[in-house]
Amino acid sequence: MELYRLTIDEARLAIEKGEISSLELTNAVYERIGHVEGRVGAYVFLNKDIALREAEEAAGRQNKGLSLSGIPLAVKDNICTEGVRTTCSSKILENFIPPYESTVTGRLRESGYVLTGKTNLDEFAMGSSTENSAYGTTKNPWDMERVPGGSSGGSAAAVAADECIAALGSDTGGSIRQPAAFCGVVGLKPTYGRVPRYGLVAFASSLDQIGPITKNVKDAAILMNVIAGHDPCDSTSANIPVPDFTRSVGHDIRGMKVGIPKEYFIEGIDREVEESVQKAIINLESLGARAVEISMPHTGYAVAAYYILATSEASSNLARYDGVRYGLRVDGKDLIDMYMKTREQGFGAEVKRRIILGTYALSSGYYDAYYKKAQQVRTLVRQDFENAFETVDAIITPTTPTPAFKIGEKIKDPLQMYLTDIFTISVNLAGIPALSVPCGFTSQGLPVGLQIIGKPFDEETILKVAHAYEQNSGWHKRKPEL
Ligand code: GLN
Repeated sequence: MELYRLTIDEARLAIEKGEISSLELTNAVYERIGHVEGRVGAYVFLNKDIALREAEEAAGRQNKGLSLSGIPLAVKDNICTEGVRTTCSSKILENFIPPYESTVTGRLRESGYVLTGKTNLDEFAMGSSTENSAYGTTKNPWDMERVPGGSSGGSAAAVAADECIAALGSDTGGSIRQPAAFCGVVGLKPTYGRVPRYGLVAFASSLDQIGPITKNVKDAAILMNVIAGHDPCDSTSANIPVPDFTRSVGHDIRGMKVGIPKEYFIEGIDREVEESVQKAIINLESLGARAVEISMPHTGYAVAAYYILATSEASSNLARYDGVRYGLRVDGKDLIDMYMKTREQGFGAEVKRRIILGTYALSSGYYDAYYKKAQQVRTLVRQDFENAFETVDAIITPTTPTPAFKIGEKIKDPLQMYLTDIFTISVNLAGIPALSVPCGFTSQGLPVGLQIIGKPFDEETILKVAHAYEQNSGWHKRKPEL
């Protein structure tokens, strides 16, 4: 058995039973990285020396009941890791070594994980393909000419290529679910407030959430058990009880009612994606779920509202990179010149575009026309979900309208790129949880993702539906040939 293929669930059982050691597992993962990383490019930083030492130490504390003891996991490079460079795939943070640990990685640490390295993303999580990274584009392990999706493309590719056992990503408008769909793995965006964001580099604070990217649904539940729960360092984290998410797996879904929103099966959706999703719905019905058509009339306005709100918040959040506090500084003839040179040289094109767009939307005279209007649309989008959830337990849609696209195909046309998140963005606007689970392959062998959307703080139901579907379909067992 190739150890790098293991899931968290399998690996920890094997370690507990003494069949393998954490060091063997970690070594196997680095061997795999050595073999494929040159082609995939999932990581911006490899933590090998420290990881091997930590894996060795983990052996000493075996059987202490730590849920991730000695398990090698990757972390998206916009999540701060104390003493480990965190770049956000940007030039402006090229040499940033956080003096503190994010809450989520702190919790992984307490659970005994081994950090394999930091994964590539679109600069500051702005993008859908990892092409906006200052450190090169990650390749899709299923087809090296295609993008892995984004912004958490490095994490999704690393999981798909078995370059880690599982990973963390972040999702502002789809950045966990879209790359998970493109790479044929599981990605969960939790409810806004479920997982603390202390130490996540802020992009759009009213939308950002951290979540797991894993090889199967149970592993997503295992990671949620570790990272979810209130944190006094994050005022937006919810102070409500956290269930044992692993209890949601292994149940039947008979009698459950799932809604199929007609607005998600639009013109322009890839025929094979639609077919895979329709088959998945039939599969769910065969498991005893009842599928009903629903309507979410404001879906069509979500992308426009998102790009006003997300860029507005980004323009404010990114004001801190000014060459004074931390990160890159390019000297100038006076203070203003220093600011301008630092930001001109430190930010990439997409980040600049968003700062300009957001600053414009927030300017006096335009604020009411753009920002305020977008907030009103956001309320309508949220109400669509509230109305739907009065009659259904979960909502089923495609995760993306197309499978992974070719590198370079959309990078010159920002609007085309923005539209790739058309099915994921509403969920962030509404603050609710959603998950992408593999639901088939196109004739070209590209993975397709099924999105399962839940009520606020009801990750359990979507994990339950996803697990039942996964076990009955088995798509998660397919692996790319590398
Ligand atoms: N692709 C979307 C954007 O560029 C979403 C990114 C994300 O979720 N971080 O804003």
